[in-house]
Amino acid sequence: MDKIEKKNKKIFIPIAEPVLKGNELKYISNCIKTGWISSQGKYVIEFEKIFSRFCGSSYGVSTSNGTMALHLALKTLGIGLDDEVIVPTLTFVATANAVVYTGAKPIFVDSETSTWNMDPKKIEEKITNKTKAIIVVHLYGHPCDMDPILDIAKRYKLYVIEDSAQAHGARYKGRRVGSIGDIGCFSFYGNKIITTGEGGMIVTDNSEWYKRSCFLRDHSMSKERRYYHPEIGYNYRLTNVQAAIGLAQMERLNSMLSKREKINNLYDHLLCNVKGISLQPHAEWADQVCWLYSILVEKDFGFLRDELMMRLNKKGIDTRPFFIPMHMLPPYKTSHDFPVAEGLSEKGLNLPSSIALKDREIKFICDTIKKIKRKN
Ligand SMILES: *Cc1c(COP(=O)(O)O)cnc(C)c1O
Repeated sequence: MDKIEKKNKKIFIPIAEPVLKGNELKYISNCIKTGWISSQGKYVIEFEKIFSRFCGSSYGVSTSNGTMALHLALKTLGIGLDDEVIVPTLTFVATANAVVYTGAKPIFVDSETSTWNMDPKKIEEKITNKTKAIIVVHLYGHPCDMDPILDIAKRYKLYVIEDSAQAHGARYKGRRVGSIGDIGCFSFYGNKIITTGEGGMIVTDNSEWYKRSCFLRDHSMSKERRYYHPEIGYNYRLTNVQAAIGLAQMERLNSMLSKREKINNLYDHLLCNVKGISLQPHAEWADQVCWLYSILVEKDFGFLRDELMMRLNKKGIDTRPFFIPMHMLPPYKTSHDFPVAEGLSEKGLNLPSSIALKDREIKFICDTIKKIKRKN
């Protein structure tokens, strides 16, 4: 599909779209021809190996999606009823939902303006004797400041799970996200940095956790005795067909990441002098990746974020608002306030970020933003 679609003679630039122009079709055809379409097969094994190696982790366990990867990670670490898990309030809802699925309670932490991630300085005050883990989220491709978080985790004996669903390949002080904490979780949903349609993976260096998560993922069936299940397990497996797509995507991940970096740099260059537009911060210790290119629409832009979204939409430019903080959603409502996350959520806007974007399309998007501003 061509990215500028002549829909009713109008331009349409989508926020994201998968690009499947490598060996995807070839590998899927191989699954069909050989009959290996379910969750056993060479692509599953190969994809887990290549992806975990890319992250710098010893083991990879693929899952049916990123939410299940988070759930599996929490179950593997023994988190359950009455436990508490610290999570940022500004994230995609699945981060908190996975905690609730285990019977534990997510405890929210506000964001920091310098990375848009969970503020490490506000974690300690949320720790109780029920706290078992911290889930960090590398939001919009920018890694969290991991050192202070790892330090807190060590002092209070907490596990650290990295929800890296938006940051495949990002580095914190040289180390790939996902491999820094105890377990890293990834999503391969259609709009993520690489996709398998639906899919996910956990990565870890711990061989016990690796074995335990494989066991839980496959109905908790005993290795010694078929159909003997010593506990309640799950079916969270990825199929060989999905892994075939993932493996083909992995072959191009490095070039896709550099294309994303170019997109990010061109946007930054074209928008850095627009009054009222703030760019995503770049910490000096971070090698971030551009998942969805993100800006803040400040007061002095002249239009509110939602007004700008509407006007861009009329020009055929697809955008997304930032996530709504968890504490503002009905299942998670609390009386605490989280001013930084609320401010980011109100002003944040994601612009089209597909690797199929042409430079002229990025220029068109930025020119349109500038034109809208001038109308004010
Ligand atoms: C996409 C995403 C998930 C969930 O992944 P799915 O594959 O859609 O289940 C979890 N956490 C974050 C931060 C995400 O962006």
